[in-house]
Amino acid sequence: MIIVMRKDCSREDIAQVQQRIRQRGLSDHLSQGVERTIIGVLGSIYPELKDELELIPGVMEVIRVTKPYKLSSREFHPDNTVVRVGSVVIGGDEVVVMAGPCSVESEEQLLTAARAVRAAGGRILRGGAFKPRTSPYSFRGMGVEGLRLLARAREETGLPVITEVMQPQDVELVAQYADILQIGARNVQNYMLLDAVGKIKKAVLLKRGFATTYEEWLLSAEYILSAGNEDVILCERGIRTFETYTRNTLDVAAIPVIKKLSHLPVIADPSHATGQWKLVTPVALAAVAAGAHGLEIEVHPEPDKALSDGAQSLTPENFARLMDQVRLVAQALGKRVAGPAPASV
Ligand code: PEP
Ligand code: MN
Repeated sequence: MIIVMRKDCSREDIAQVQQRIRQRGLSDHLSQGVERTIIGVLGSIYPELKDELELIPGVMEVIRVTKPYKLSSREFHPDNTVVRVGSVVIGGDEVVVMAGPCSVESEEQLLTAARAVRAAGGRILRGGAFKPRTSPYSFRGMGVEGLRLLARAREETGLPVITEVMQPQDVELVAQYADILQIGARNVQNYMLLDAVGKIKKAVLLKRGFATTYEEWLLSAEYILSAGNEDVILCERGIRTFETYTRNTLDVAAIPVIKKLSHLPVIADPSHATGQWKLVTPVALAAVAAGAHGLEIEVHPEPDKALSDGAQSLTPENFARLMDQVRLVAQALGKRVAGPAPASV
C-alpha cells in the first residue's frame, strides 16, 4: 500500500501517517521526491487501513500495491534511484561503463587492462577474484590475492572496482576491497547472500539469472533493499533460450520494462550475453539505445591467453572502438558517456 501525500502537506502530516502505520505494527518507507511525497506501507495490511489513513490531514490518496515486490517498485519510489560510487553516478543521464577482465590473473594483466579501460573512458574497473565456474576444474579465481590486486589497480588508476562475492561469509572481506559487490547470475536467488549484502554500506550489482523473470529478479532486489541497502544496480546479462549460437540471449526489452517497473538503475552486460567478442559491440549499442544506464564489458590485454571468458573479451583496441560507438549512440539519445572522452585512442 502507498500513501500519496498532498503537495502542500506539512511535516507533521507525514509524521502522523508514519506514527499511525507504526502503531498498527506495520513498517513505513518514506520517499520524498521532487514531485511527490509517498509513504509505503510494509506488512500484513487489513482492509480498513485504507479508510483510516485517508482521514489523516495531508493525505491525498491511498493505493494498494498488488505487486509482490514493494521497495523495488516504481509505486513506492517514483523517482529514479541514483547510486553514487565515489564520483561516479549510476542511474542518472550519463551512461557509465564498467570494464576489465573476467578474472584477475596477475598484477601485470590487471594493471594493463585497468590502464586501457581508463584511457578509453571506462569509469569502473571490473575483475573477478572469486569465480563461479560451471566446471570445478576451471580456473576459480585468485581469491584474496585477486582482491588485493584490484585495490592496487584502483590506487594506480583511480577507478573504483567491482568484483563478485559468492557466499555470505565472504561479504565482509570483499566489501573491504570492493566499491561495488557483484552478485552473479548463478546467485540471484541465493537469499542468504542477498540478506548479507543488504546489511552492508556498499553498492551492489545484482545480475539477472539465466531463467529469472522480471518479478523474481525484482523480488531478489527486494531482499537487499529490505535488509537496509538502497544502493542496488540491476544488470541484464542474457537469459537462456533455445538458441545455442550465442552463449545467452540478451533480453533488450528487460531494460525499458525494468525502468518502468522499478526505480533502480539498470545496466547491460553484452559480454556474457553473447559469449563472442565480435557481438559485444553491436549488442552493447542496442542496450544503450534501449536506455541502459551503463554497461559491463570484459576486456583482456591478451584474450587468447585469458584464464576465463577469453572468447568474449575485447582487446584494449576493440574496447576503445566500442567506447567511440557508445558515445555516438548516447549522443543520438541526448545523453553522454560518463567521464571525459579520451584525447586520442
Ligand atoms: C562475470 O561477470 O564474470 C560473471 C560470472 O557473470 P554472470 O554471473 O553474469 O555469469
Ligand atoms: Mn566472465
